[in-house]
Amino acid sequence: MDYSTTSASEIVKHISTGELSAVDCTQQYLTQIEKQNESLNAFLIVEGEEALETASKIDEQIAAGKSPGPLAGLPIAIKDGICTTGLRTSAGSRMLENFEPPYDATVVERLRDAGAIVIGKTNMDEFAMGSSTENSYFGPTRNPWSSDRVPGGSSGGSAACVSADIAPAALGSDTGGSIRQPAAFCGITGLKPTYGRVSRFGLIAYASSLDQIGPMGRSAEDCARIMNVIGGHDPKDSTSANVESPDYLATLEEPLSGVRIGVCREHFNEGLDSEVESAVKEAIATLTALGAEIVDIHLPQTANAVPAYYVIAPCEASSNLARFDGVRYTMREPAENLEQMYCKTRAEGFGPEVKRRIMLGTFALSSGYYDAYYVNASKVRRLIKQDFDQAFESVDMILGPTTPTPAFKIGEHSQDPLAMYLADIYTVSANLAGIPGISIPCGFSNAGLPIGLQLQAAAFNEDILLRTAHQFQQQTDWHSRRPTQ
Ligand code: GLN
Repeated sequence: MDYSTTSASEIVKHISTGELSAVDCTQQYLTQIEKQNESLNAFLIVEGEEALETASKIDEQIAAGKSPGPLAGLPIAIKDGICTTGLRTSAGSRMLENFEPPYDATVVERLRDAGAIVIGKTNMDEFAMGSSTENSYFGPTRNPWSSDRVPGGSSGGSAACVSADIAPAALGSDTGGSIRQPAAFCGITGLKPTYGRVSRFGLIAYASSLDQIGPMGRSAEDCARIMNVIGGHDPKDSTSANVESPDYLATLEEPLSGVRIGVCREHFNEGLDSEVESAVKEAIATLTALGAEIVDIHLPQTANAVPAYYVIAPCEASSNLARFDGVRYTMREPAENLEQMYCKTRAEGFGPEVKRRIMLGTFALSSGYYDAYYVNASKVRRLIKQDFDQAFESVDMILGPTTPTPAFKIGEHSQDPLAMYLADIYTVSANLAGIPGISIPCGFSNAGLPIGLQLQAAAFNEDILLRTAHQFQQQTDWHSRRPTQ
C-alpha cells in the first residue's frame, strides 16, 4: 500500500498495530521527497538518515510491546523558524544560513517524545515576513496545484509538502495568517491556536505578541491529533497560558446541532473573488444542513486590522531582529571595525522585505512618532478585540473566507508590497485579538485552485473549530483531493 497518500491518523494507527513499519513509512516519504522536492522547493533540509534511525527504534519498541507514544512513527515536517537540535534552522534567511540550534523548541521536543519523526525543515518567507514564500533566501516554493503559483506564506513549505504528499503533516507558525493562508492556497487544513495555547519556546521570533505555532495537515482530525501533543502550558515560555489543553480528538464526533455560526458582512466586501464567495456560501449551506444555526454579525473594525497589524508587527520585528548583529549565531561580514561589521552583516544578511519591516518598525517606534503609530495601532487592536468579544456573546464561531482570492502567480505582487499586505485582511485580526482560527478546504476555482474557509472562535475554543471542521470534512471531500503530478 502507498502510505504517502494516507492520513496521519491512519499512519499512526497502522504503525501502532504493527501493520506498517515506521521504517517503510519514512522510506516512502523520503522517496516522494526525492521525486518532488527539487521542483517544489518545499523542504530546505531533509534528515533522511536520522529519520530512518529513529523509525527503526520505534519499530523495535513496538515489536517489544512497549508503548511508543501517540504519534509513533509519524514523519513530520517542521517550519524552518522552529529550532531543532543540531539541524540547521535558518528561518529562510541568509543571516542564519549556518545556524544549528543547541536545543529543540518545546513543540519539537513534545513531538519527538510522542514518537513523531522529524523528516526535515521547510521553506518559509524570511523570518516569517510574507504571504508567498517568495521572500525566502533559498528561493520560492511552488504551489503543488500549479507550479507558476505561490503556495502562500510564510509557512509555504509546510503547506506545499502536505499538499503534495511528501509529508503527512507539518508544523507552521502564524503571526498574521501564515498557517491559515498557505493552508487555503494549498488545499490543506491549518490551525492557528489561541495565543499562549502552544509554547513558542524555540520559535525564532517575528512579532512576539502575535506569533503562534500550530499544526498543518490533511484533515482536522490530523490537526487535533497533533494539538493533543503540542498544546498546553510550558514553563519555558512566559507567555504560555496556564490553561488545561483538552483532548481534541474526544469531541470531534459531537454533532453540530445548536452550534451558532456568525457570518459577518465585512467578510464579503468588494475585494472578494466571486469564486471564493460562492464556495464559502456553499459551505454555509453544508454547515446549516449539519444543524448549525447561521447568525448575521457585524465586525466594524475589519478594515482597520491590516493597517494596525502592519504597524504593530514591524515594530515588534524591528526590536526582535536587533539581536542579529554578526556577534553570535549569525553569519558575519568581514570589516575594519565593530560598527562597520554590524552594518555590513545586516546589509548582507537580511533580504529586502525584512529590511523594509525593520525600517518601518524603527520609524514607527521613534520619538515623536510613537504615539501617532504604535499607540494608535494598539488602540485599534483593542477595538478589534472588543468586536470579537461582542460577537462571541451571541455566536460560537465566525465563518468567512480565509483569503480574498485563490493562490496568486509567483511574482504577481512582489513589486507591490501594499497589495500583498492587503490580501491578509481576513487573517490578521485573529492574531491581533489572540483568538484561534482554522482554515479548511471548501472548494476549487475554475482554474483548479483550492479555496479555503476560515472559522474563528473565542480564546481557548480550538475544540469547537476542530470539531466543526471535522464534521464538515465528513460531509465533503475537498480536503482529500490531491494535485495531479
Ligand atoms: N503575511 C503576514 C506578514 O507578512 C503574516 C505573516 C505570518 O503570519 N508570519 O506579516
